Amino acid sequence: RHAAALENAGEDCRLLDGTRIEVFANLGAVGEAERAVANGAEGCGLLRTEFLFLERDTAPDEDEQAAQYQAIADGLGGRPLIVRTLDAGGDKPMPYLPIPHEENPALGLRGVRVGLWRPQMLMTQLRAILRVAPAGQCKIMVPMVASPDELAAVRRMLEEARRDMGVATPVQLGVMIETPAAAVTADLIAEQADFLSIGTNDLTQYVLARDRGNPAVAADIDGLHPAVLRLIRQTCEAGQAKGRWVGVCGGLAGDMAAAPILVGLGVTELSAAPAVLPDLKALLRGLTMDVCRDLATRALACASVDEVRALADDFRRGAD
Ligand code: PEP
Ligand code: MG
Repeated sequence: RHAAALENAGEDCRLLDGTRIEVFANLGAVGEAERAVANGAEGCGLLRTEFLFLERDTAPDEDEQAAQYQAIADGLGGRPLIVRTLDAGGDKPMPYLPIPHEENPALGLRGVRVGLWRPQMLMTQLRAILRVAPAGQCKIMVPMVASPDELAAVRRMLEEARRDMGVATPVQLGVMIETPAAAVTADLIAEQADFLSIGTNDLTQYVLARDRGNPAVAADIDGLHPAVLRLIRQTCEAGQAKGRWVGVCGGLAGDMAAAPILVGLGVTELSAAPAVLPDLKALLRGLTMDVCRDLATRALACASVDEVRALADDFRRGAD
């Protein structure tokens, strides 16, 4: 225990002024957990469970899922593991879960909508997550939420599973903020959620009305767009007002130009690809909250994404 504590102390990421910023890894495969920890991951901020079962043509049962989640939890050596419930649909078709043809899959059955459309499948997943030991290491996160009702429905299912399985330890249930509706009503969602994690990939796609899978328009999808920054700010304010932490697990979290702005906007957890974690921690350790806040204020005042990028690049050159 002492050795583990020492190891963790070395990993903790703090700004120069002591402000704690959690730096987590996004994972999508069992083997990635140990490498992420070796790269300084303090936990997993997003386990994309759909990636674990992409190759299959039948749905994984509770035992199989529990075994995979347990292996990842073990690979993390007791560090927190945020398991996202299946984010099927949209850009992630699942062979074992055929969705009727849709004209606009990005606006169709995906994320939590699929879970509530096939509640048995969601229940199996919730039960599998609850089986991971030690209890409490796993937190659960719900994708593509657009209204607090969806979260309430998942919470009812989670409580039912806990009751049936006799799981006494409460399990944290968080929400991905990745629809404009969720960001704008983050105050309502935060009332019911234990934490919020902003999915900037989808949030940006939906705010800018640009399909992330369409090469003709995807290149101009940039989460540093002022419209997205304002929604991130609004989400952070809502989280702070309700005492919920707010993280970012979309691509912006691993973008060295964006990270100081996110911290300045009030984000306290960044979850990114394992490969970028050493650079991300080194960058954060050289900053202060005052400097990040000042940068964020200036970013919010920009009129275009190009202006924000120019500001962020200038800042980076100054910081190097
Ligand atoms: C996101 O949308 O930002 C996100 C993290 O989820 P995914 O990329 O898996 O849709
Ligand atoms: Mg997403």
